Amino acid sequence: MKLTTKILIGLLAGIIIGLMLGGSPEIARTYIAPFGTLFLNLIRMIIVPLVFSSLIVGAASMGDVKKLGRIGGKTVAFYLGTTAVAVFLGLLLANIVNPGAGLSIPTNVTVEAAQTPLLTDTLLGMIPSNPLNALVQGNMLQIIVFALFLGIGITTIGEKGKPFLSFFDSLAEIMYKFTAIVMSFAPIGVFALIVPVVAVNGPSVLIPLAKVILTVYIGCILHMAIVYSSLVKGFAKMNPISFFKGIAPAASVAFSTSSSAGTLPVTIKAARENLGVPRGICSFVLPLGATINMDGTALYQGVCALFVAQALGLSLTIGQQLTIVLTATLASIGTAGVPGAGFIMLTMVLTSVGLPLEGSALIAGIDRVLDMARTTVNVVGDAAVAVAVSATEGELNIGLTELVHKMEEEDNE
Ligand code: ASP
Repeated sequence: MKLTTKILIGLLAGIIIGLMLGGSPEIARTYIAPFGTLFLNLIRMIIVPLVFSSLIVGAASMGDVKKLGRIGGKTVAFYLGTTAVAVFLGLLLANIVNPGAGLSIPTNVTVEAAQTPLLTDTLLGMIPSNPLNALVQGNMLQIIVFALFLGIGITTIGEKGKPFLSFFDSLAEIMYKFTAIVMSFAPIGVFALIVPVVAVNGPSVLIPLAKVILTVYIGCILHMAIVYSSLVKGFAKMNPISFFKGIAPAASVAFSTSSSAGTLPVTIKAARENLGVPRGICSFVLPLGATINMDGTALYQGVCALFVAQALGLSLTIGQQLTIVLTATLASIGTAGVPGAGFIMLTMVLTSVGLPLEGSALIAGIDRVLDMARTTVNVVGDAAVAVAVSATEGELNIGLTELVHKMEEEDNE
């Protein structure tokens, strides 16, 4: 049986057992959750050394700064473009479905606004004044910048850079191998991560707000089906089904961990092996995506902002809705790829159009379930952009999944 199939079975079994344990979530927390944490920690162990070493090698292999700049520019443009479309789609759906109609907001809660990072702070903060500190703290943007500098440095000094490069090349391969080993436990890991989430967020919590959940889930599915399919088809002539099959292992880990940063090693592995994205582009585009590209989060913020307005009986003007598109797109850059980060940034989006923060209290109870969907979209979106960028550079190889797909098609003929 293929690993992807096993992971999906783990996920499904986890949902079923979670529902069965709904009455006694302590059992799930005490006996099952630790295996999930173990799996997650194993992946986390890989992140910093993998990203750091493979990006050094990637940057060095690109050879020149111009190419790096070009790829960087394209990547950011794709990321921002797809994110703006996602918020737009979220708003559109919420206008149609009207999920907040007929609900009232509890007035006795107080919520604090998020400390919103200024864009200039984010940009300035990208340069690590102490690179070792960045590595220790796992500050992804700073690690990316430092690794890029090292990679460029290696190419400019020529012969003397070789030993350094081969050390990191070797480290990158070791970490990559680790990912494969850890992923063989993914079916159990995913199972153990999902059981407690389902046991705690049982149907009784979800049903009253089923309309918002449904709107977010439908939005996520549509965004992937329309935007990512067109991206991989349009730029890379890749069959969207091969794409979704290829990224499925990362998508299921994202769904069960609600962390795109935590899923990163799996995303890199899937993009490189199944989708044929070359190592150099993977190592740059995907860590950047896990940090700044959050289409699912942006879509969710669009839906939730409108939901809060509807629940309060307020209507938002087109101008206000455009403000949401802008703020949610920018907010997604500053959102960390960890569970619940998007909810904190939602307060910023609400503030931008003058909606009371208490509205987000309605969302708080169901946020984890929304987080699973939006994180999946975030991760799949990173991979779709990696495919598109590689194709525009003429560097996309044929990935395993597409190869299998093509062979099956030929067999059928
Ligand atoms: N959990 C999401 C992620 O890791 C971020 C969010 O909360 O929206 O991508």
